[in-house]
Amino acid sequence: MPSEDHAIVKDQVAPCGLRCGDCDLGNGNVAETALNLVTYIRSYDVAKWANQMPGGDDIDFHRLDHYLIWIGGAVRCPGCLRGGGNPECPIRLCSKERSMSSCSQCGELIQCNKFRWLGKTGEHLKHKLAEER
Ligand code: SF4
Ligand code: SF4
Repeated sequence: MPSEDHAIVKDQVAPCGLRCGDCDLGNGNVAETALNLVTYIRSYDVAKWANQMPGGDDIDFHRLDHYLIWIGGAVRCPGCLRGGGNPECPIRLCSKERSMSSCSQCGELIQCNKFRWLGKTGEHLKHKLAEER
């Protein structure tokens, strides 16, 4: 994903109040960590001396390299507002139907049960949204 796209993801605030920039999938930390690991493993030639360490013989470095590069390219959430996250998220579907960019604008926020699927995080988000009003 080009860096300007990343900037857009980082600035996104979902209707539930989640900030995509705070999520390691949305802000690119997971992908960058995977690619950094590839660089370190290659530059320190880990595959050449790993067999001298316990368990090192069992590692297929060729496949590991392949998987990490895949993570670096594919595991980049586009952010909630561009279709990232749970496609069936009841919060996103409901707020969209009501044309609300944030659930903080909704008069039914306090009694809303659509945050339940997020467990304790959902309760926390609801309280924060209520405080914003
Ligand atoms: S998909 Fe739902 S829970 Fe996830 S960020 Fe979007 S509104 Fe929030
Ligand atoms: S009822 Fe209101 S608070 Fe609940 S998900 Fe829909 S828009 Fe958000």
